[in-house]
Amino acid sequence: AIEIRDLRKSFGTNEVLKGLNLTIEAGEVVCVVGPSGSGKSTLLRSVNLLEQPTSGQIRIEGVDILDPEVDVDRIRTRIGMVFQQFNLFPHMDVLRNLTIAQERVLGRSRDEARRVALAMLERVGLSDKATAHPAHLSGGQQQRVAIARSLAMNPDMMLFDEPTSALDPELVGEVLAVMRDLAAEGMTMMVVTHEMGFAREVGSRLIFMDGGVIVEEGDPREVLAHPRHPRTQAFFSKVL
Ligand code: ATP
Ligand code: MG
Repeated sequence: AIEIRDLRKSFGTNEVLKGLNLTIEAGEVVCVVGPSGSGKSTLLRSVNLLEQPTSGQIRIEGVDILDPEVDVDRIRTRIGMVFQQFNLFPHMDVLRNLTIAQERVLGRSRDEARRVALAMLERVGLSDKATAHPAHLSGGQQQRVAIARSLAMNPDMMLFDEPTSALDPELVGEVLAVMRDLAAEGMTMMVVTHEMGFAREVGSRLIFMDGGVIVEEGDPREVLAHPRHPRTQAFFSKVL
């Protein structure tokens, strides 16, 4: 489980996370929605230690990852992160994109890394693209490569920050399908998304954030059909 207690993050005088509490059990798919600037990305980036929270606790399987003694690189390899921009290495082919961190961070042999990479490419439906360069792939294919690259590191948990927001509409579905498969296989996931259909069908929980706190959370179907808080109601009346 991951337990977040009274998490706060300020940038200068701007307090962006204002005492956020959240517990996520293994296998849960937590979808995070909320207006721009509400702190969704900052929350995900804090869990992956891309941001240093100002105060509070984040425990993963009981280990306080904000402890200065903790091995940040080790935590990061256990938590995969996929961004809106695919961030593939443009000068490397797809296979190398998937093997380089396995070799350099996990110390896998070239053969082992290659074997894992090919298995992950198959999982995202891109076995035939191993030797392609990112520039020759569609946005949807690039994002699926980015997901495969994360999965190759054997993460315990995957964080997705608007993974389909940069895609042409006709390419969104293929990426959501890969994420849906991952969820069905039991991967623990946090997903910031505007795709309410995905949240409804795949999410085990929906969290609505506003002003740096969780305003409302619950079963996605329930929250989407009957939002209780006026701010949640106002938000969904605009996006749905
Ligand atoms: P969006 O839907 O637009 O992606 P968000 O909910 O992900 O928004 P965050 O990116 O977490 O919001 O940002 C929350 C607030 O923190 C914003 O006011 C933003 O300007 C501020 N912020 C985020 N990162 C930084 C930073 N590195 N330095 C200063 N301010 C930051
Ligand atoms: Mg964001």
